[in-house]
Amino acid sequence: MKVAVIEKGRIGSGSTSSNTALIQYSGEKMFTNLINSFGKEYISRHLQLLREAINEIEATSMAAAIPSEFSRRDSLYSASCSEDVETLKKEYEFLKQQGLNVDFLLKEEIEERYPFSRGAAIYSYGDGELNWTGR
Ligand SMILES: Cc1cc2nc3c(=O)[nH]c(=O)nc-3n(C[C@H](O)[C@H](O)[C@H](O)COP(=O)(O)OP(=O)(O)OC[C@H]3O[C@@H](n4cnc5c(N)ncnc54)[C@H](O)[C@@H]3O)c2cc1C
Repeated sequence: MKVAVIEKGRIGSGSTSSNTALIQYSGEKMFTNLINSFGKEYISRHLQLLREAINEIEATSMAAAIPSEFSRRDSLYSASCSEDVETLKKEYEFLKQQGLNVDFLLKEEIEERYPFSRGAAIYSYGDGELNWTGR
């Protein structure tokens, strides 16, 4: 692949310099919401491609000459308010149906594991992170 970077300032000085470098298949909008706009078949394929993309980033990072410090990590997607709990449960059921490795955590389980409380959360296994510094 041939790539040209055109940069008016310093490469990597924009939002790239301050991001948390998480690589998740989940985005800002829930898949169950996206199904309303695009249909289930389309979103299932979208999800499959997102999962493949993380695998490809992992394979590329292993083969690349420049160390990218890719590592696998889990992530937690928690409900912000009690109204979110049912929505989150539906999202979890969709992800599970699509074969993703996810757990649905209830309030008590969250409080046991973490120093905070939420009504519910989706725990996802096998997301990714770049430039991991061993924090
Ligand atoms: C706090 C924070 C946390 C984030 N965390 C994550 C995360 O965990 N995971 C994730 O996937 N995403 C995350 N993001 C989003 C991610 O950082 C951005 O989507 C990504 O960095 C965008 O990259 P970019 O190259 O498009 O833009 P930028 O990195 O902003 O680069 C744009 C570049 O264009 C240059 N430029 C502007 N105008 C011109 C011009 N006319 N000619 C030439 N060059 C020009 C600028 O100088 C700049 O360097 C986060 C963002 C923020 C702010």
